[in-house]
Amino acid sequence: MAAERTFPDIRDAVARLCADYGGDYWRRLDADRQYPTEFVAALTAAGYLSVLIPEEYGGSGLPLGAACAVLEEIHRSGGNGGACHAQMYTMGTLLRHGSERQKRQFLPDIAAGRLRLQAFGVTEPGSGTDTSRIRTTAVRDGDDYVVNGQKVFISRTEHSDLMVLLVRTSPRPERGSHTDGMSVLLVDLREAIGNGLTIRPIATMMNHATTELFFDGLRVPATNLIGREGDGFRCILDGMNAERILIAAECIGDARWFTARSSAYASEREVFGRPIGANQGVQFPIARAHIQTEAAALMVQRAADLYDAGLPVGAEANMAKLLASEAAWAAADTCIQTHGGYGFTTDYDVERKFRETRLYQVAPISTNLILSFVATRELGLPKSF
Ligand SMILES: Cc1cc2nc3c(=O)[nH]c(=O)nc-3n(C[C@H](O)[C@H](O)[C@H](O)COP(=O)(O)OP(=O)(O)OC[C@H]3O[C@@H](n4cnc5c(N)ncnc54)[C@H](O)[C@@H]3O)c2cc1C
Repeated sequence: MAAERTFPDIRDAVARLCADYGGDYWRRLDADRQYPTEFVAALTAAGYLSVLIPEEYGGSGLPLGAACAVLEEIHRSGGNGGACHAQMYTMGTLLRHGSERQKRQFLPDIAAGRLRLQAFGVTEPGSGTDTSRIRTTAVRDGDDYVVNGQKVFISRTEHSDLMVLLVRTSPRPERGSHTDGMSVLLVDLREAIGNGLTIRPIATMMNHATTELFFDGLRVPATNLIGREGDGFRCILDGMNAERILIAAECIGDARWFTARSSAYASEREVFGRPIGANQGVQFPIARAHIQTEAAALMVQRAADLYDAGLPVGAEANMAKLLASEAAWAAADTCIQTHGGYGFTTDYDVERKFRETRLYQVAPISTNLILSFVATRELGLPKSF
């Protein structure tokens, strides 16, 4: 069915692992708003969360395309990689911009799953999408930075040992690049919680373990600064492209799950004495969602290929995320419609996946911001902000 089935061995192995965590597992967690601890442990033990870490630091050193295959298969099986996908890519900031000492200190333990680095703190209540206006500050005091401020929607902090945190170390410049003066700190959450950091869970429409963070004089050793002080935005930027491509792969997995469910149900459900799928009013939206998915999958693959070749990928990463998240949403909407009333019952998993896949038109970057990026950077249209 797929345009090209890359990394077939990885896909088959991940699908086998996911078969042990079926719809009943995800439904129960969703109802109780619990973290998929057993599933994440199994993925970690099988080495799938460290595929992007180079072999010299204990990972398998595979390309981004392999990580895409892992996440797509999780979602295609009906699961949700949102619980742990950041363990794959958050370490990229450390890998690309950390010192050799930092890399040797942290990456082997991250690769082995002894250290969880899957919290990435950027968004703030007062700045929204405009990252340059973050207000969380870090002020140097002796051998430490002292952090004050607030973050919102920071996911998995309760299930992570470390967090990559974006702070302001100098005020937002009025002229020149507004993103200058930000820095990246690696925060040890095990030491920080209760010592200047308070975490408050946020209830959301799906089971996503996201939280609000309050910093009040948190001390972070200056040795945990990643990259140069003031250069933090650049340090997280290339990681954001990887994140967008990986999440686009999850959306492709979602879309394929929805369309498989739609096709199966439409073939077996009989109304007016024949399968509902024999009606073109039912089958055409399913076919259209499939076509949309396959087109989006090509863009995801192209973005991953460019990334793996070390070529500029900003436009393709953004376009892949937009197309894949919209394809997943079209497939989700069609799946609900195809199932009629049963699409709204929890037993079929359709309503759960419907809620889960909606997120990706807003996070990690919203559709409007992608359109703005393509309009102004790719097409040279005048800037609106
Ligand atoms: C479940 C969940 C998990 C998340 N996890 C993380 C995480 O782990 N780490 C993290 O740092 N962040 C995380 N986020 C935050 C996420 O990245 C932001 O919610 C997202 O970037 C949008 O920012 P915002 O919510 O402040 O919306 P706003 O910036 O307030 O925007 C609201 C709406 O207005 C639109 N808009 C704003 N400005 C413009 C403009 N100039 N032109 C056109 N439209 C515009 C946006 O597109 C959006 O639709 C998460 C969010 C959610 C919901």
